[in-house]
Amino acid sequence: MKILVCISHVPDTTSKINFTDNNTKFDTNGVQYVINPYDEFALTRAMWFKEKQGASVTVVNVGNTSTEPTLRKALAIGADNAIRVNMEPTDGYTVAKELAEVVKNGDYNLVLAGKESIDYNGGMVPGMLAANLDFNFVNACIGLEINEESATIIREIDGGKETLNSKLPLVIAGQKGLVEEKDLKIPNMRGIMMARKKPLTVIEPTTSETASTSASFEKPEPKSACKMVDANNVDELVNLLHNEAKVI
Ligand SMILES: Cc1cc2nc3c(=O)[nH]c(=O)nc-3n(C[C@H](O)[C@H](O)[C@H](O)COP(=O)(O)OP(=O)(O)OC[C@H]3O[C@@H](n4cnc5c(N)ncnc54)[C@H](O)[C@@H]3O)c2cc1C
Repeated sequence: MKILVCISHVPDTTSKINFTDNNTKFDTNGVQYVINPYDEFALTRAMWFKEKQGASVTVVNVGNTSTEPTLRKALAIGADNAIRVNMEPTDGYTVAKELAEVVKNGDYNLVLAGKESIDYNGGMVPGMLAANLDFNFVNACIGLEINEESATIIREIDGGKETLNSKLPLVIAGQKGLVEEKDLKIPNMRGIMMARKKPLTVIEPTTSETASTSASFEKPEPKSACKMVDANNVDELVNLLHNEAKVI
């Protein structure tokens, strides 16, 4: 089994989010990056297939040089090799097209991705990737077993779960449940040392075509300050809830 895990390089959830250039560009100053959390679930499941079923695991990112530490972290977790498609991605369509080229050239039969990136939240790359490849696609997966050329997939649906069977090749978009949080792998010193020597291949993009461009970004209104009310002053509490918060 040849597995490709798509790794999105996203700001740490504690990062302060700001925009520049009249709210048209994300301000990367001081931002720490991590592997997209949903991709960590996918990568950990891929590592399970490597350990138990002898799969090979390649990680891929479409991004500029700044994403290489994130790919090295995935290598430290245990992926065999990494590919970076050298471009500044600005829309999911272009990313999916570039990933499709990587899949075709590497002959992968299982592609694991996250259900969405936690920065731009497009939720579109895995579906468009599958469409580009004419592969079957299952979204929001919380369980995956592979037996020879067949997959059994568990998917979250409203109020329950659905179990599906599919043949490989397949694109899976995963989330928590694909593995449990306690099973996520933290790179150890040996993994970090080994990751330095593992191959990270940089390839040039095949297209610069984009389907959409972001016109502007807007942050939510800042939350108003918290008001403390004396526990015995019920009248004041009712007054604030009625006249200020307007919730009663
Ligand atoms: C205006 C703008 C500027 C941007 N600038 C940058 C930038 O400078 N650097 C940068 O790295 N990104 C940048 N991005 C993000 C990049 O374009 C996204 O990777 C792409 O838009 C897909 O985002 P999405 O939210 O649709 O992904 P989703 O469809 O929500 O992602 C789902 C899954 O697809 C996979 N995936 C998504 N993106 C990638 C990727 N790039 N490589 C590999 N797998 C992926 C992951 O498994 C992810 O969990 C920018 C996006 C916009 C809109």
